[in-house]
Amino acid sequence: MNTKYIFVTGGVVSSLGKGIISSSLARLLLSRGYRVTIQKFDPYINIDPGTLNPYEHGECYVTSDGHEADLDLGHYERFTNIKTSRANNVTTGRIYQAVIDKERRGDYLGKTVQIIPHITDEIKRNVKLLGKTGDYDFVITEIGGTVGDIESTPYLEAVRQLKWELGRDALFIHLTYVPYLKAAKELKTKPTQHSVKMLQSVGIQPDVLVLRTEKELPAAMLRKVGLFCNVAPEAVIQSIDQPTIYQVPLRMHDQHLDDIVIKLMDADPTPEPNMDRWNTFLHKLANATEVVNIGLVGKYVELQDAYKSINESLMQAATYLDRKINIVYIHSEKLTDSNVEERLKDMDGVVIAPGFGQRGIEGKFVALKYCREHDVPTFGICLGMQCMVIEFARNVLGLTDANSTEMDTKTPHNVIDLMEEQKSISNMGGTMRLGAYDCVLREGSRAAEAYGRTNISERHRHRFEFNDDYRQQFEDGGMKCVGENPETHLVEVVEIPEKRWFIGTQYHPEYQSTVLDPNPIFLSFVKAAIDYSKEK
Ligand code: GLN
Repeated sequence: MNTKYIFVTGGVVSSLGKGIISSSLARLLLSRGYRVTIQKFDPYINIDPGTLNPYEHGECYVTSDGHEADLDLGHYERFTNIKTSRANNVTTGRIYQAVIDKERRGDYLGKTVQIIPHITDEIKRNVKLLGKTGDYDFVITEIGGTVGDIESTPYLEAVRQLKWELGRDALFIHLTYVPYLKAAKELKTKPTQHSVKMLQSVGIQPDVLVLRTEKELPAAMLRKVGLFCNVAPEAVIQSIDQPTIYQVPLRMHDQHLDDIVIKLMDADPTPEPNMDRWNTFLHKLANATEVVNIGLVGKYVELQDAYKSINESLMQAATYLDRKINIVYIHSEKLTDSNVEERLKDMDGVVIAPGFGQRGIEGKFVALKYCREHDVPTFGICLGMQCMVIEFARNVLGLTDANSTEMDTKTPHNVIDLMEEQKSISNMGGTMRLGAYDCVLREGSRAAEAYGRTNISERHRHRFEFNDDYRQQFEDGGMKCVGENPETHLVEVVEIPEKRWFIGTQYHPEYQSTVLDPNPIFLSFVKAAIDYSKEK
């Protein structure tokens, strides 16, 4: 069968959950035995979201090939278990950069370089990149932004042209919003009709409509929308808010989204999706009653998307351990010696979050000192691990004023220092140590026990590292360097074996934790937190 291209657009408002609908459809198609991938096209000019702060765009996700990507790629991986790559996330910046590079090389010699056809051709080339590998039956492309945005226009034009080329091998799914007006007690479909008109005005006829709603939409209303929008009645589907996003694939299947896609695209028939393992997870999620309380200490706590993958990893681990997760966000800037006890005493485990820069750092040390002294299960991730090292240096090894050179370039004890290869780098974009690296864990360490093996690979995103000059001092003092890169010998994992569970990872295990394959280190940490809650 030819590779099929599904385009997912959004209208009316942003944040409708195109990523969740795309991921849910991918999950269903995968569970029917098709080979599927999902990609996202983001209409902003940044080359990648690596240079955006989390207030702008939530978490920056990292793929195994070291691409700093939109957080939707995290959803794709968590729903599908597929490993995404640089090719799965393209921005307007990358499209323009590629076209401008070609122009400078002389590839368009003699021609005026224009949005149409040059930018649109480059978009089309990127849309088809993964499909051309022959590895996929379906390539789902999520177009970021909202129909009608100036910056989305070249993408819509490109996919309109692709529909001509691909015929039935291309399909459009448009996601809209149906508001409920409380005062009038009415659901309103007019915004949907207008949004579809806008799409039609650029030459795109949606094949499937997914209406996001907080209230059940009556069948007659779905039929009416279909009539107004030129869409077959059975292809107008509602997406009602669910208790968890992981229910969405089932709700889409109830309304035959996967069957509709297969039928409209003339795909080879397959059996009903096998969702057994998925359902087991959902069953556990719905039925857990006992709570495990995890404190997350970070500076972006007002904005939960900033720690999206960590939240999801904790939730997955708790679910498999038959617990309801209660993540308590603790603002590191507001944590002091005088309030730390009150803030942390009810926590069964504490995560010290990743991050950049000085702001909120002292609160992380306060939390770490408390957790270490009170033997609370504690997990430091990236900057969180670096803070573990610094706190231990200051308060156990007696290295007063120990610090990371990220925070204090003149520290007398640079226990965390800029990596050698980073010293000559001046560009900020895409220049960190990024992507998956191998790590060897020390036999008998708690980290090795957590993973059940000593050879692992996890994803990174940092410039600073544990300073090897201090390794022996830490080992002698009781903080062990139990994970290292087999080639560079960079320290990747530290732990204090005498404690219940006190581990810091230079890498970000949260990028590799999925619904069907939760990350073992999160499982081990949450298990330790549960055990501690029983002891308390
Ligand atoms: N700022 C630290 C570094 O660059 C940690 C980064 C992170 O937590 N992702 O090394």
